[in-house]
Amino acid sequence: MKPGLHQKILAGLLLGGAAGVACNVLAADARWLAAVNTYVAGPVGQIFLRMLFMVVVPLVFASLTVGVALLGDLRRVGRVGAKTIGYFLVTTAAACVIGLVLVNQFEPGGGLDPTTRASLLETYRSEAAQRAPEAGAGFGIHTLVNIVPRNPIDAATRGDMLGVIFFSLMLGIALTLLPSDRARPLVRVLEALGDAMVAIIGIVMKIAPYGVAGLIFVVTSRFGWGILRELAVYVAVAIAGLLIHQTVSFSLLLRFLGRMSPWDFFRRAEPVMITAFSTSSSNATLPTTIKVSEEALGIPKEIAGFVLPLGATMNMNGTALFEGVTVLFVAQVFGVDLSVGEQAIVLALSVLMAVGAAGVPGGSIPLLMLVLQAVGVPGEGIALVLGVDRILDMCRTVVNVTGDMTAAVYVARTEAGLRPVPEEVEVVAAG
Ligand code: ASP
Repeated sequence: MKPGLHQKILAGLLLGGAAGVACNVLAADARWLAAVNTYVAGPVGQIFLRMLFMVVVPLVFASLTVGVALLGDLRRVGRVGAKTIGYFLVTTAAACVIGLVLVNQFEPGGGLDPTTRASLLETYRSEAAQRAPEAGAGFGIHTLVNIVPRNPIDAATRGDMLGVIFFSLMLGIALTLLPSDRARPLVRVLEALGDAMVAIIGIVMKIAPYGVAGLIFVVTSRFGWGILRELAVYVAVAIAGLLIHQTVSFSLLLRFLGRMSPWDFFRRAEPVMITAFSTSSSNATLPTTIKVSEEALGIPKEIAGFVLPLGATMNMNGTALFEGVTVLFVAQVFGVDLSVGEQAIVLALSVLMAVGAAGVPGGSIPLLMLVLQAVGVPGEGIALVLGVDRILDMCRTVVNVTGDMTAAVYVARTEAGLRPVPEEVEVVAAG
């Protein structure tokens, strides 16, 4: 039997990862390895990544506007919006609680030896300073004001997704207020735009096996594996938490709220999870998330178009879990004892920061430094974990996008119903 695209993408991930680890072990400093990264693996991965990013802004604009317009009336938009955001917040908080319980239980920061601590702080100090939040960042009234863009085109060119989302929501709402014969032509144009973007993704997915292999090869061949050993307990706690949320929490949510077989869901969602893992970016994964959700999970267009763009920006279960684990880990290393009340603040702030973090690689790091400072732990303490962040970012992004899809399943099931989908799910190949 000819392998399907799913298998090819998975093979790209495994082969790229294995080859990268092997090269790292055998020839980490070889000139030829640097050349392979610069001239082959790097460009192939970057072209794939850029093609994904290329469709994000037009796709979010088209699918969110059409989603809202098709929801029809404002009351329905409000109800679906409230349900979606409620689901996001509750599941994000639940994820963070899992992380906090594990990090209290296993205390990964207690056992970190002082020389390792000093060397990590020294090595990553300048990187930590570079990633520090801009002056005046943090949550405040300006956060709310900044959601509204002065100029939607400027927001789009800066990749300000919240600005694009706000404008699209407003345009969709405005279209529901116009008489339908006036609104219809624009809705049809935007529908065609959205469909065309999804068709581009169909083409991009054909090069996904190579793109994924390139991206993963670059990461694994350059990664300092030694540091993983030093931070093994911390990494194990974070990954265990992510795994628990990904498998147990999402299965329960799918079973009881989404009424969908978790097995079926995960089988169909595989290309999305692999794309998230290799790109470390919810935004870059969004086009694939939308395509797979509509075509393989049977989520109606108006629900997918509404829930998923919001989710890619606002719903980050994995990020909140990671933030909870990391804040407590750094506090433990610095000997700062956080009471239950302070941990509740960590929980609340982690949820807020996960909502605010950009869906790009390492998007949560600057905000994480704010949470650290808020509970009296030095923000530069982030230097302790920067060396392993890429690996954790790949894992938490998978949880982030899977959470978006479970939200879409739940909202679709309770609103419009799920569409029947074919048994065999070779959707990503269908260009
Ligand atoms: N990379 C994550 C995402 O795109 C955000 C983060 O936690 O840094 O979902």
